[in-house]
Amino acid sequence: MRMVVANWKMNHLRRDAEAFCASLLGAYKPVDGVVAAIAPPFPLIPVVSRLVAGSAVRVYAQNAHAEAKGAYTGEVSMAMAMDAGCTGVLLGHSERRQYNGETEATLLPKVKAAAAQGLLPMLCVGETLAQRDAGATLDVLRGQLSILAQAPEGPIAVAYEPVWAIGTGRVATVEQIAEVHAFIRKELLALMGPRGGDVPILYGGSVTPDNFQDILKVPHVAGGLVGGASLDPAKFLKLLDIAA
Ligand code: PGA
Repeated sequence: MRMVVANWKMNHLRRDAEAFCASLLGAYKPVDGVVAAIAPPFPLIPVVSRLVAGSAVRVYAQNAHAEAKGAYTGEVSMAMAMDAGCTGVLLGHSERRQYNGETEATLLPKVKAAAAQGLLPMLCVGETLAQRDAGATLDVLRGQLSILAQAPEGPIAVAYEPVWAIGTGRVATVEQIAEVHAFIRKELLALMGPRGGDVPILYGGSVTPDNFQDILKVPHVAGGLVGGASLDPAKFLKLLDIAA
């Protein structure tokens, strides 16, 4: 299975989402085994869900809270995300680790809550440039993946996004991606047993239609988590075409 996930981050208003979905659905031909998903900001989730209803396009949340409900001002629960039309949720994106203090301690309950709700948890992992330069990449990833030793039942996905490649135009080399993806697969098998072999591992970080083909050829790369290039429906369509 391959996946192309559009991470819109904090971009787009309703009119942009409408225009995007109109362009996408006008040209999108679903292909068996290729999942297309859009992760819009929360207010646009119901908008995008309604527009893609009846198509094969899925909608993911960019984050959600681990608790089912209660006094958590400004938060959104897994049930709310699902109720609004999501089938998956990004968890632990590096921007949330950086700006919102997400750690393994907060992410494990989120992974469990997502799975309990029936949402696909997509756990994002990746090292900073300082960590890579210090030769700590694999140690950092080992730590971030460690929560999957307690992975709940059900499907789960992982996205490897080197922080230094996100939004910088500096894509990791295929050698770097190959090394890390092979390492992640090994860790998943060790942490989760045989089902770790089925976990899709996406690459993210300056993915574009120009580099996606080469990235997809790397063993254990199951697709892309795409920020900047996913804001343009033509580029998103191109990426889906390449994944097909
Ligand atoms: P980018 O973002 O494609 O703009 O580098 C990827 C991501 O952060 O998910």
